[in-house]
Amino acid sequence: MSRRRQIYEGKDKVIFEGPESGTIVQYFKDDAYTSNNKKSGTIIGKGVINNRISEYFMTRLGEIGIPTHFVKRLNMREQLVREVEIIPLAVVIRNISAGSIAKRLSIPEGTTLPRTIVEFKYKSSDLGDPLVSEDHITAFGWANPNELDEMMQLSLRINDFLCGLLLGVEIRLVDFRIEFGRHYNQNDEMNIILADEISPDSCRLWDAKTNKRMDKDRFRQDMDGIAEAYQEVAQRLGILPESIPRIHQGPKLMQ
Ligand code: 5GP
Repeated sequence: MSRRRQIYEGKDKVIFEGPESGTIVQYFKDDAYTSNNKKSGTIIGKGVINNRISEYFMTRLGEIGIPTHFVKRLNMREQLVREVEIIPLAVVIRNISAGSIAKRLSIPEGTTLPRTIVEFKYKSSDLGDPLVSEDHITAFGWANPNELDEMMQLSLRINDFLCGLLLGVEIRLVDFRIEFGRHYNQNDEMNIILADEISPDSCRLWDAKTNKRMDKDRFRQDMDGIAEAYQEVAQRLGILPESIPRIHQGPKLMQ
C-alpha cells in the first residue's frame, strides 16, 4: 500500500492525500461488507477490478460531458481523483425492481419499473442510510434545490448512457448508487461532479439473457462465484488487465 498520508479508511476504499493540493488518491480494497455490516469478507482481486471498471465508466462518462472527479488511474489499486466537498447523499437510480424497493413496496424482483426512479438516501452508517425526501434534504441543508435538480439531471443522463453501454455487452443495469460532490475551481466557482466509484459493488448487473447476478448481490446473498462474476463484467467490457491471474477461489469469509 502507498506511504502517502491517509485521510480516511472506508469499507471498500482508503483515501490518501494526493500529490497536489485539490487531489486525493483512492485505494480500492478487497474487503466486502453488506450495508448493515452483518456480513464481512474478502473478495480476492475485487479492488483491482473495481479500480479498472470505475476508471472505465468514469472515463466514458467524462467523454459525453458528465463532470466527474476522476483524473487518472495510478496503478492496479489506486486512482487519482479531484478532491470534492462530499454531499452526504447517496443517489439510487432504479430501472428494474430489486433489493430494497422490491421489499419496501412489494414489487416482485425483476419487474421493469414504469419509468426510471431516482431515490435519495442520507449517508449515515449508524442510521443504515435511510431513504429521505427532497424536503428533508433542503430543510436540513444537505443540498439546495438547484443542487438537487443538477444531481437528478446528471443521474438520469448517467443512467441512460450506462444502460446503453452495458446492454451492448448483454448486461442489464437494474439499479445503481452514486455520490456527488461540490468541486470549486480556481475562481471559487462551484460545480456538482460525480464522485466515489461505479463498480459491481455499487450496481446491480444482470446478464441480459439469463438474469445471472454479476454484482455484489452474490456476496450479500451468499452465492458463490463472486470474484468470477466481477471479472466477467470487466472481461465483457474489454478491460480485464492482462496481468491479473484468473481467479478460481471463492471469497474468504472472516466471520
Ligand atoms: P438497495 O437500496 O436496493 O439495497 O440498493 C440499491 C443500489 O445501491 C444497488 O445497486 C446496490 O448495489 C447499491 N448499494 C447498496 N448499498 C451500498 C453501499 O453501501 N455502497 C454502495 N456503493 N452501493 C450500495
